[in-house]
Amino acid sequence: MKLERSIADFARARAVIAGGVNSSVRAFKAVGGSPIFVRGAAGATICDVDGHEYIDYVLSWGPLLLGHAHPAVTKAVCAAAARGSSFGAPTEAETELAELICAMMPSIERLRFTSSGTEATMSAVRLARGYTRREKIIKFAGCYHGAADPFLIAAGSSALTLGVPSSPGVPRATAADTIVVPFNDAGSVDAAFDANAGEIAAVVVEPYAGNMGLVKPAPGFLARLRERCTRERALLVFDEVMTGFRVARGGAQARESVTPDLTVLGKVIGGGLPVGAFGGREEIMAYLSPDGPVFHAGTLSGNPLAMAAGIATLKIVRDDATLFERLEVLTSLLAGGLAEVFKKYAVPHQTVFAGSMFGFFFNAEPVVDLESAVKSDAALYAKYFHAMLERGVALAPSQYETAFVSSAHTTRDVERTLAAADAALAESVAAAP
Ligand SMILES: *Cc1c(COP(=O)(O)O)cnc(C)c1O
Repeated sequence: MKLERSIADFARARAVIAGGVNSSVRAFKAVGGSPIFVRGAAGATICDVDGHEYIDYVLSWGPLLLGHAHPAVTKAVCAAAARGSSFGAPTEAETELAELICAMMPSIERLRFTSSGTEATMSAVRLARGYTRREKIIKFAGCYHGAADPFLIAAGSSALTLGVPSSPGVPRATAADTIVVPFNDAGSVDAAFDANAGEIAAVVVEPYAGNMGLVKPAPGFLARLRERCTRERALLVFDEVMTGFRVARGGAQARESVTPDLTVLGKVIGGGLPVGAFGGREEIMAYLSPDGPVFHAGTLSGNPLAMAAGIATLKIVRDDATLFERLEVLTSLLAGGLAEVFKKYAVPHQTVFAGSMFGFFFNAEPVVDLESAVKSDAALYAKYFHAMLERGVALAPSQYETAFVSSAHTTRDVERTLAAADAALAESVAAAP
């Protein structure tokens, strides 16, 4: 496959942009090779600068529930741009998007918009700390909550040791306030609460972990977090930046019937424009400035273009009664079909899906947490990734990412993807040492 222009573009970018990309994982480091530079996209198809077309399962890492350049979203954004791109003063659009979100996610009584998921999780943690007047948080190894300091923490050698920074530049003092325990391990959460009595402000969790591949919660795990947080008067924070309006109209909290104190959103609610949000019970959100003491602000928070894209997207989510049913049917077809193909080539695998999210691990053992996830075959994934790309299917350039289906994907796309997977594995497995 000729990627001359992408390769030249990457070299040119590297001369002025650190590493050539503005978000690290875009650089293809986990799979090798040079990233595809994008010319444009429509529906389920993305096109590179060398003229190749791909069925896209990355979908900008999740936001594009309706596919690329959905006509309703494009029209709304253009109309909003013509009225002015930013005012630094309140608009009716912000209230309208907030009303749509609150109506579909009843645990959110009040919310605040931000410009990214990172900002929203960071602000939610500040609010939880301000509200509880406690400083420590519990997070789970392998859960990603954006690029802010309190979350870039790796697990210590045991569940009860303090966290250690997972990136230079994160102060040890910050890491010391973040306790990292294994996902799906309620016993470790209990132990962390026991060892830090009265000091835990919040438990922050991706209810369906989507950033170590897709890992679903074990039955009862989220309910146990809910119970323990309630008992300790700590806040349960669901990071639904990825799962919100992705796995169900009401997010993972609706599917699992567990109500968090605070919810963090992003991705889909911005319809492909930069947005995040955090919200929850009125009594907690009242701690935010200007009503309360906890500071929050943003020059472009609630940006009119982003609000327009979000409103157009969430109106379709609200009004299309069978949207998530159709998405899940298509996703299950894909996940089931891939499992068949993996089986045909005797490749050890785990496949998992929820709503329009799906993932697979080249791994013989069930994946329940980060430790089991990282035992997957990364070398095979790298080969498979490039073989799929050559056959017109764009997957995330790392096994530890979730893939997404949009309402623009069709059964024809799924059939073509499965045929590509068959041919790709024939090549990848044959090429294995
Ligand atoms: C993407 C993501 C974030 C960060 O959102 P950005 O908009 O990239 O800052 C936070 N949490 C989860 C679960 C995510 O998937």
